[in-house]
Amino acid sequence: MPAAPVTTKYDLMLRGGWVIDPANGRDGPMDVAILGGKIAAVDREIRDVGALKVVDVSGRYVTPGLIDLHAHFYGGGGGYKDFEMNPDMYAIPNGTTTVVDAGGAGWMNYGGFIDRVVHGYRTRVLGLLNICAYGMHTHHENDPKSFMPEDCARTICENSGVFVGIKTAHYMQPGYESVDAAVNAGEIAGVPVMMDSWPSDIRKYPDMILKHLRPGDIHTHFYAQQFPWLGADKTVAPYMWQARKRGVIFDVGHGAGSFWFRIAAPAIAQGFGPDTISTDAHSGSFYMQRATMPVTISKLLCLGISLQEAIDRSTRVPAKVIRRTDIGTLSVGAEADVAVFELERALSPDTGFGYVDSGGAMMNGDKRLTCAMTIRAGNVLYDREGLSRPDYRGLGNYKKAE
Ligand SMILES: [Zn+2]
Repeated sequence: MPAAPVTTKYDLMLRGGWVIDPANGRDGPMDVAILGGKIAAVDREIRDVGALKVVDVSGRYVTPGLIDLHAHFYGGGGGYKDFEMNPDMYAIPNGTTTVVDAGGAGWMNYGGFIDRVVHGYRTRVLGLLNICAYGMHTHHENDPKSFMPEDCARTICENSGVFVGIKTAHYMQPGYESVDAAVNAGEIAGVPVMMDSWPSDIRKYPDMILKHLRPGDIHTHFYAQQFPWLGADKTVAPYMWQARKRGVIFDVGHGAGSFWFRIAAPAIAQGFGPDTISTDAHSGSFYMQRATMPVTISKLLCLGISLQEAIDRSTRVPAKVIRRTDIGTLSVGAEADVAVFELERALSPDTGFGYVDSGGAMMNGDKRLTCAMTIRAGNVLYDREGLSRPDYRGLGNYKKAE
């Protein structure tokens, strides 16, 4: 008699991990089951199962795949040719399943971004469209004539599956032209604006975040040197709390220049942590600062942010900010983007882990978060320890293991 067909209820089961899924208020030991590329169940103990593959992730944290709200994968040419990273090579080993390219493309050249970057990789790539028509491909970001709010907004609406907001950046003229044009486009398209703008004598930082940005707009790089919101005694300026209260989103945007321990440490000690955690990943921040999501999160953990909060600021909150609450979650039915992390703890910072910031400084910390596994749409794309693989000693000679 032929054997009865095996019915598999799930394709993959992550068993015994500690789930942190802020979008669903989950924080505890749970199993996660995946079927057909989607989350099929999350529960204390999913009993049997008929899962094709069961992976023991005990002693590890299981979270939604992280969302990096500010990174760079498009924008070669001009002065920015060194910026571009390969989204998969950057994101997949780092538990990051969604990246947001922050302003590489403008409405005149976004086609290449969609063809080559969005459709070219397994990482989910979204974008903030630059208010400058040419994005970061040239130096036009300094030229108000290249700011075209209506064309920018129209392009976003026509490509709403890709573009989730607007970027204004690198504007070195003294006025508010770039910020205001971006906000104008944001009003038309109904999307948030991310601002990266050095203050000037005319363009005052408090006015940018209290008057020009709207609630829901994002100031990236807020732990950078150019925003003097710490007093001489290191007190956080009252206008920062005011801006937070009115709904401005403060994003890390680590990068090569924008995460300074000596600003972040006293701010976090006073309760001024980030709303969203992002890396500003580009080739200039990849080696010295190692500004990936797990390393950026590790630095924040060492400065006093809890792991639960850090995961919240890397999943649920960025998803909400870009109005994509279908991602950054382990909700049943969501695309199965999942990360597995290990948290190493040292007895003291001095015997722990060294980190480099964007201000040329180092910090000893007592925590280090590292990625053990990344799953994108149900597929295991990264598995540092081979947790999902059979031991070679039990296998026959010449058949590749599934
Ligand atoms: Zn950037």
